[in-house]
Amino acid sequence: MMTVALIRLLMIIVVASLVLTLSADASFTARTSRMKIGGAQFLVVTEDGELNVTRAEVNAYVADAARAVMAYYGSFPVDKTIVRIAPIDDDGVGFATSTFEDAGGYGLIELDLGRYADRRDLDRSWTLTHEMMHLAFPIVARRHRWLAEGIATYAEPIGRMRTGKLSREEVWGDLAKNLN
Ligand SMILES: [Zn+2]
Repeated sequence: MMTVALIRLLMIIVVASLVLTLSADASFTARTSRMKIGGAQFLVVTEDGELNVTRAEVNAYVADAARAVMAYYGSFPVDKTIVRIAPIDDDGVGFATSTFEDAGGYGLIELDLGRYADRRDLDRSWTLTHEMMHLAFPIVARRHRWLAEGIATYAEPIGRMRTGKLSREEVWGDLAKNLN
């Protein structure tokens, strides 16, 4: 006859092995984090591959970019955004794209992240803020893209200045230099 203590022990073993199985599966598939920032939802999906930065550092990069956009526009332009991070064999932050998925009703940003990129690279990177700024402007025909690029390029450093990532001198100095 099984005692109550033995039954409890067996239940603990069953639950523990279930938890271990689930966490082992999770490490083999894409890793996903959910965040809510200023009322907007963010799903950060990191594809399989090696990265030097931690998941928390990637999430901080996403959160900083979202806050810079909010600092410029007052709120985040879309309710839900999926950020897909693809590790690549390179350093720094790579190429990124931004679009709005009408069917699903969410913004979709895809970003290549170099496996050798470190926390400082993420902290100095304007790429994700730029891509998120695009979500505030409609998707237009290719010949009008200059306007979408112009607005995102203009707004990005101002948003990052307002969240303390850039100094006023850097923002307006770069603008004056690049307008010449
Ligand atoms: Zn752009």
